[in-house]
Order: sequence, then structure tokens, then C-alpha cells
Amino acid sequence: MEKVDFGWFDVDNDDRQKIEEGIWVPCRLCQKAFRRVRLTLRYCAECKTAFCEGEHGSFAQKRGVCVQCGPKAATK
Ligand SMILES: [Zn+2]
Ligand SMILES: [Zn+2]
Repeated sequence: MEKVDFGWFDVDNDDRQKIEEGIWVPCRLCQKAFRRVRLTLRYCAECKTAFCEGEHGSFAQKRGVCVQCGPKAATK
């Protein structure tokens, strides 16, 4: 049985914490921009928010980066 949290981003229990517990959360960029729920187990190492892989972020060297943090993080 998969655990899913359809709530909004919570600063006291961010997506990194949820995902590391194995809880699926919605991509925050899809949620914010399109009011769309696309569940993911990926989170951004920079801002700790969930992102869907492909459209809103990617993994580089096993480190997730969302499109909002991507260009900065990629140069590091
Ligand atoms: Zn997305
Ligand atoms: Zn980010």
C-alpha cells in the first residue's frame, strides 16, 4: 500500500522528509502552476520540494534539482 500525501508544501515537514519516509507527494511546480497532481518520489536537494522528473527537474549525480534551482546548482 503506497503512502500518499496530497497536502500542500509544509515547511515543518518538507517534501524531503516525506519522500525519505517513502511517502509520495505531488510535484509542487505542477501543483502551483497547473493545479495538477502528479505524484513523485523525487525532491530537490536545494529547496526540498518535490518535482516530477523530466518536466520540472532532473537528477544529476544522484542529486535532484528542480527547474527553479537547476541552472544555479548545475554549475556547482
Ligand atoms: Zn511537475
Ligand atoms: Zn529546487
